[in-house]
Amino acid sequence: MSIISDSLRKIKPSPTIAVTQKARELKAAGKDVIGLGAGEPDFDTPDNIKQAAIKAINDGDTKYTAVDGTPALKKAIVEKFKKENNLEYTTDQITVGAGGKHVIYNAMMATLNDGDEVIIPAPYWVSYPDIVLLAGGKPVVMECDEKQGFKINPLDLEKFITPKTKWIILNSPSNPTGACYTEKDIREIAKVLEKHSHVYILSDDIYEHVTYEGFKFFTIAQIESLKERVLTMNGVSKAYSMTGWRIGYAAGPKEIIKAIAKIQSQSTTNPSSISQAASVEALSGTQDFIKTRADSFQERRDFVVKALNDIDGIDCLNPDGAFYVFPSCKGLMGKKDTNGKKIKSDTDFVQSLLENSGIAVVQGSAFGLEGFFRISYATSMDNLKKALEKISSFCKSLS
Ligand SMILES: *Cc1c(COP(=O)(O)O)cnc(C)c1O
Repeated sequence: MSIISDSLRKIKPSPTIAVTQKARELKAAGKDVIGLGAGEPDFDTPDNIKQAAIKAINDGDTKYTAVDGTPALKKAIVEKFKKENNLEYTTDQITVGAGGKHVIYNAMMATLNDGDEVIIPAPYWVSYPDIVLLAGGKPVVMECDEKQGFKINPLDLEKFITPKTKWIILNSPSNPTGACYTEKDIREIAKVLEKHSHVYILSDDIYEHVTYEGFKFFTIAQIESLKERVLTMNGVSKAYSMTGWRIGYAAGPKEIIKAIAKIQSQSTTNPSSISQAASVEALSGTQDFIKTRADSFQERRDFVVKALNDIDGIDCLNPDGAFYVFPSCKGLMGKKDTNGKKIKSDTDFVQSLLENSGIAVVQGSAFGLEGFFRISYATSMDNLKKALEKISSFCKSLS
């Protein structure tokens, strides 16, 4: 008998760890490594938010709070949804957890029975399938290829829905592809989901504020006929460069919100009181830097997409949001690197790129779609210029 539980043994170690680990080893050995794997903004948390945290400490906001969020933060979240998404919620429809990931984890733990199915469009964020597995559910992966802009084809969706489907997860702007669903895209998906009233929708909106060229963000809870089946997850990590503060939240059906509080009351209790106070300032204070930062991400995206498409064998879509691109490396399959190693998969490509050029990226298969790789451009323009030059010479060196 193993000391480790059956449910934990169903989970694979993160496929991105191999690359990260290798990068760390090479760095330790004194090699020049540029990491393009990071899933967080390189900017610092804005000063007004830091000051709010310092004030919270000085004011003695250092005790337990309400389990699923302080009244002040819930109120700020209600106002955010009203102001930015034209969505009405009451505070008993809001939950706050230790990061968006924690909220998703709680939602799955609160709702899944053994064998319940969760539709996960691929390429997907690496945590979705494993969270579903941990909660006893069954991830049902729906591939969305490059020809569809890595987005769900509503005509396909119908085929993935069964009587056991409990959730579908939507993520726009997407990690890892940067793909963004327009209002029209979402309305077409909604038409299919309207017919299946047993299916709940988890909308992961964490990159809402990282969009370009006037892209108009739209979220599925804005569709009135579906709203009561939608759990909208968001957080401060990406919009306000607050990944380390661990605050995420969701709005949705009271029944689910209450169940999540029950889980938190017997596990983490409340998220950090200080981070919650800082998040009130993040959501209600000045939003000026959001635009400045998005502009800076856009400049990097423009550079990276062009530089990638200038390389023979690489093809890259131009996404409207998030800080990732998801280029294809299919044109390089079958070639050999200068050590004579044959590149037969995206994993081979990524490993050889790291060993030969010191550039760390993540293979597409880690996100459920083979033949691609993910670049995070949440790093300085200097780093990006150096990195793209190296990727280009590496690809040229393949024969
Ligand atoms: C970063 C991220 C999250 C949540 O991050 P937290 O820091 O846990 O709030 C959720 N979904 C996606 C797709 C992400 O990239």
